[in-house]
Amino acid sequence: MMSSSLPNKNSPLIIVGPCSLESEHLANEVTKWAMDYPQIYLRAALFKPRTHPDSFQGLGLEGLPVMQAMIKAKAKCVTEVLSVEQAEAVWEMAHGLQIGARNMQNFELLKNIGHLFQKKQLQAPSHRRPFVLLKRGFANGLEEWMAAALYLERYGVPSEQIVLCERGSRNTTGGVTLDLGLALQAKYTGRYRVIVDPSHGSKNASLVIPLAKAAMAAGLDGLMIEAHPRPETSLSDAAQTISLEKLSLFLSQYRPLQEISI
Ligand code: PEP
Ligand code: MN
Repeated sequence: MMSSSLPNKNSPLIIVGPCSLESEHLANEVTKWAMDYPQIYLRAALFKPRTHPDSFQGLGLEGLPVMQAMIKAKAKCVTEVLSVEQAEAVWEMAHGLQIGARNMQNFELLKNIGHLFQKKQLQAPSHRRPFVLLKRGFANGLEEWMAAALYLERYGVPSEQIVLCERGSRNTTGGVTLDLGLALQAKYTGRYRVIVDPSHGSKNASLVIPLAKAAMAAGLDGLMIEAHPRPETSLSDAAQTISLEKLSLFLSQYRPLQEISI
C-alpha cells in the first residue's frame, strides 16, 4: 500500500509545469494538458524566491483557490514553500512540498517542516501525506545535502517521504552545471529517491531534453521539468522553459533503457 502521495518506487516521479502558477488561466491550461498523463505531478508554485524584489513573486496566498481547483480536477500538485506558515497553508492540499536550493540549509525551516509533519501526519490518510522535495543548494556538496535531509528526518518527516532533487551548481562562467555524478552518489546512499531538474540545471531550453534523457538513462528516479504552453511569455525562467508540445513528445517517446547487466 502507498504510504504517501508518491508513486510506487519502481515508477519515475515526473514533476512538470510552469516555473510559477502565473494565473488561473495558465493553471487551467496545464491541468487540462495533464489529464492525458495521470502519473504526472504538476509544478504549482505560488511563492517564488526571486533575486530581484521587482520580479513577479508568485500569486501567493491569494493563489490557494487556484491550486485547490487544480487538485479538484485531479491534478497532483508540488509547490515550493519558503516558510513554515506557507507549508502549513498548503499541507493538506499539496502532494509535494518543495524546499528550494536557496533554503537547503535554512535549518530552522527544515526543523519546522519536520515539526509540522509530526503534528499533521497522523490525522492524514496515508495517500494524502505529502512528500518533501529537497533541492540541492547550488554551492553544496553531498555531505551537506544528506545532512540537510537528515534534519527533515530527525524532526519528523519519514525518510520514505523525502525526495532529493539535483538542480546543478553555479559555475565560473556564470552558468550552471548539472551534476549527475553527485545525484547518483546521493541515490547510492540508498536513503532517498533522487530526481533531476535539467531546467534550473542548465538554464537553457535546448539542453533540457538531452539532460533529462541522460538522467533517466543513468537510473535516477525521476525529473522536474519547466514547461509552459507559451514558454517565451513565462514570467520567470523563460529561457529554460520548454513547450508543452515538446514535453508531450518526450513523454510519449520515453522508454526506460533496457537493463544492462553491469
Ligand atoms: C524552482 O524549482 O522553481 C526553483 C526556484 O528552483 P531552485 O530552488 O532549484 O533554484
Ligand atoms: Mn524556475
